[in-house]
Amino acid sequence: MSVEKLQFQAETKRLLDLVVNSIYTNKEIFLRELISNASDALDKLRIESLTNKNLEGDEEPEIFIVPDAATKTITISDNGIGMTRDEVISNIGTIAKSGTKDFLDKIREASGSAAQELIGQFGVGFYSAFIVAEKVELITRKAGTAQAVKWTSSGAGEYELEDSEKDSCGTIIILHLKPEFCGDDEYNFTDVYEIERLVKKYSDFVRYPIKMNFEVKGKEEDEPTIEIRTVNSMKPLWTRNKSEITREEYDEFFKQQLHEWEAPLEIFHVKAEGTVEYTALLCIPKHAAYNLYYTDYEAGLQLYSRHVFIMDKCKDFLPEYLRFAKGLVDSPDLPLNISREILQQSYEVKVIGKALEKNIQRQLGKLLKDDRDKYEEFWREFGKSIKLGVYNSMFDTKLKDSLKDLLLFQTSHEGKLSTLAEYVERMPDFQKKIYVAPGKDAAAIEHLPQMEILRERGLEVIYLTDPVDEFTIQVLKSYAEKEFQSITREEFELDDAESQKVKAEIEEIAKTREDLLKDVKEAIGEPVKEVRLTSRLKSGAVCLVTGEGGPSLSMEKTFEAMNNPLFKATQILELNPNHAVFKKLEALHEQGKDSQAFKDLCTTLYSLALLIEGVMPQNPADLANKVTDLLTR
Ligand code: ADP
Repeated sequence: MSVEKLQFQAETKRLLDLVVNSIYTNKEIFLRELISNASDALDKLRIESLTNKNLEGDEEPEIFIVPDAATKTITISDNGIGMTRDEVISNIGTIAKSGTKDFLDKIREASGSAAQELIGQFGVGFYSAFIVAEKVELITRKAGTAQAVKWTSSGAGEYELEDSEKDSCGTIIILHLKPEFCGDDEYNFTDVYEIERLVKKYSDFVRYPIKMNFEVKGKEEDEPTIEIRTVNSMKPLWTRNKSEITREEYDEFFKQQLHEWEAPLEIFHVKAEGTVEYTALLCIPKHAAYNLYYTDYEAGLQLYSRHVFIMDKCKDFLPEYLRFAKGLVDSPDLPLNISREILQQSYEVKVIGKALEKNIQRQLGKLLKDDRDKYEEFWREFGKSIKLGVYNSMFDTKLKDSLKDLLLFQTSHEGKLSTLAEYVERMPDFQKKIYVAPGKDAAAIEHLPQMEILRERGLEVIYLTDPVDEFTIQVLKSYAEKEFQSITREEFELDDAESQKVKAEIEEIAKTREDLLKDVKEAIGEPVKEVRLTSRLKSGAVCLVTGEGGPSLSMEKTFEAMNNPLFKATQILELNPNHAVFKKLEALHEQGKDSQAFKDLCTTLYSLALLIEGVMPQNPADLANKVTDLLTR
């Protein structure tokens, strides 16, 4: 077949552009990426051949690297699974990951180290070859097929495909290096010893031998002979003694093993020899994957049995809320050819999973205690997951109990993150409930008119700024036997003597204003369930609160965003009888409840109360007209 020219998918083109005009500062990582792919291909062949005996399998699995100064190339080959022509097109010419476009847009907006961080999370894998190569050739033959195919590209818009020949299955990748990587400059990727060093540095734990040719001086003077040596130790890191492993070794291991760009935030290395024997090496990445909360995010751990890889992305170990944890489990109690279905039922997997979950909870608790800064770093990336864990623990009191002390919330106390225990610790004796307030962000909550009185009394409020926060609090119900109370809900009241006195006074006033309140309600109509006087405002004129049972206004918005407009908040409009505008309202009311001036004031007050809550009134233009009218009068 002749040479066929094909275009890269648009997203691939843009990604390649980024790689070629390298925003990568570390030029060495291409080797790690290509070795990882080779190692994965060897895993796949081994697993395939468990069920398909026809696959060529007499060759020992290996990865071979040949740097060559004469041709300015470096060649990486494996005798793994290989690819068919179609697979080459779909794996190498396209990026299947969803969210790629959004991701690329984000990168374009970021710059420098922020952009690097982003691209690191995305992982460019094979394309990293173009960091160092001006042309890449890939010759591959799928196990069980006879026809090889050759793919060539210079990383610009297109690539070429043609039929090729190859003796056995596997993949050969030839990088034609850019001149600056051939020794003229800082790097020399054509040098055997340089490459040996990099393999040891980045790929020492790869489970298959990585071999290279070394020239050895023969006895007869200048007749050098070639000796093939395995460069990597192949010893799985997790089988070594914890005390002998340095943090650098762990870091490199995770980068290599999990195709991670940066070192993890926390590492868990657990060995157990109870009813089920296992070793687990897990980590919490430094940054949440860009698609962690998308359905296409593939959570799960790698599974090994007696150090032999069984499968990737095994979801059955960790619960949903710990989906951000990565790593592997190695257990001799699991059979080598276990299927995903059997795994789900497996007693061993359940035992290991439970133990790992407990372990992670415990370690997080310890981190919170011992290294607050690091825990907060963790929280910013993965706090949402823990909150979802609480939300999902609706029927699991034990889980709820083990997660509640891992929660952090921003509060009005110096604007810092606080645990619930810390909040309770600061509560004055008379305060019976834990005060919370939902809102778009801290500033929006601080501007709520209800906050004034709390500020004045020195009472602390927990800010619920993430939509999931309110749901989390609802599931928790209470902490340390203190109920949560939203300051924007109907029932809220302050417990101190002073506030109780003010409240009683206002209730007295309310008794004499029943007609007025009824007429205000009538003037506003449907949206509000009740209009009443309030003791929760100081200088503010109005506020909108919601009924105790249903959703709050911000929950209503969340439901709306999820296309679930059924859940409506019950709105209650509260008026401050000590405010001048209330006197005005009374005066207009006396002139007649049907007067336009009275009605206008009522609806304007309601619209303003909505605005304070960050809700757009039904008819903003009408509100604008009324306000300008008032201002000019
Ligand atoms: P990733 O490894 O994250 O999937 P890559 O861009 O590195 O992304 O590779 C894309 C795909 O190309 C791989 O998932 C694999 O299917 C295929 N591939 C890459 N290198 C090899 C190889 N050496 N042998 C077989 N398939 C490979």
